[in-house]
Amino acid sequence: MRRDYLLHFSQMAKNKQLISLVIPVFKEEKNIPLFYIEVKKILKNITSYNFEIIFINDWSPDSSWYEIEKLCILDTDVKWINLSRNFGKEVAMTAGIEHAKGEAVITLDGDGQHPVEQIPNFIQEWEAWYQIVYNVRPNIAWANVLKKLSSQLFYKVFNAISEFEFEDRTTDYRLLDRVVVNYFLKFSERNRLYRGIIDWLGFDKKALVFDARERLDNGDSSYSYKKLWTLAINSLTSFSIFPLRLVWYFGFFMTLISSILFVFVIIDKFTINRFYFSNIAALLLINSALIWIVLMALWLIALYIARIHEEVQGRPMYIIKDCKNIK
Ligand code: UDP
Ligand code: MG
Repeated sequence: MRRDYLLHFSQMAKNKQLISLVIPVFKEEKNIPLFYIEVKKILKNITSYNFEIIFINDWSPDSSWYEIEKLCILDTDVKWINLSRNFGKEVAMTAGIEHAKGEAVITLDGDGQHPVEQIPNFIQEWEAWYQIVYNVRPNIAWANVLKKLSSQLFYKVFNAISEFEFEDRTTDYRLLDRVVVNYFLKFSERNRLYRGIIDWLGFDKKALVFDARERLDNGDSSYSYKKLWTLAINSLTSFSIFPLRLVWYFGFFMTLISSILFVFVIIDKFTINRFYFSNIAALLLINSALIWIVLMALWLIALYIARIHEEVQGRPMYIIKDCKNIK
């Protein structure tokens, strides 16, 4: 049955459904007031739903928290969660989603890069049918060339080796139906990629194509190349065991080459002796190839073991220092 029938009945009963906005925040003191004004303007026109706006302060060193607290006093729809330290955007979003009460949850950035005027379109697609509505960028012109290239390379490598297709150019600006949210919350991995988990879940999805905007404060993204590298490695190790298999292929290939070379050297030595291989040179060649393989294998295995270690420790994913209007 189409969802709008259900909505129609629920609205007849004057029982407005709740939609949650989940916004991770790190060093956004200038953006928060601007973002709030923009988002309120949009939400005011959507009268068929109630909204809650959940800010997750990911231990910002600036006065982001103070800005959120000010909004909270004025507006009871605004809620906040203060994390006890910086856990990173992926975990901050998870904390927000876990505390969201809405029938649908919309995740978006607090720096204004995810245009809030698209919120009605997300809701429209959700009402029409889809359980996941997500944003796809037409291009990433706003990003610098290095980020653009590394992002393209990442998707190419990832899709070539992972067990499922990971869509290129998508962002974290997404709407999730409650059913999807409930499944998302069953994932307990600490090193997580929000987009990856949602793509893995499946469901009926609809892409909305529009570009990200400039940040409201014209500042810089807080994602350093180191953080992006960590995210890329986490995504690879959590969604693919291909790197482990790669080591085996590589080892097999190198052993084959070394064996052929070895046979060649022996035959040459005891027959025509044309290439004058020194024994030591041949041994060194084979030896260094083998050491290289072993080191590569160890590095990759260590990556996976590190992940297992972290997951087995079973620590809580995040710690909430305090919160407001959150039940
Ligand atoms: N963010 C966060 N924790 C962090 C880094 C970023 O909660 O450790 C938030 C940030 O406030 C913003 C969103 O995640 O709302 C996206 O961050 P940013 O704009 O720096 O990244 P990009 O635009 O490059 O994706
Ligand atoms: Mg941004």
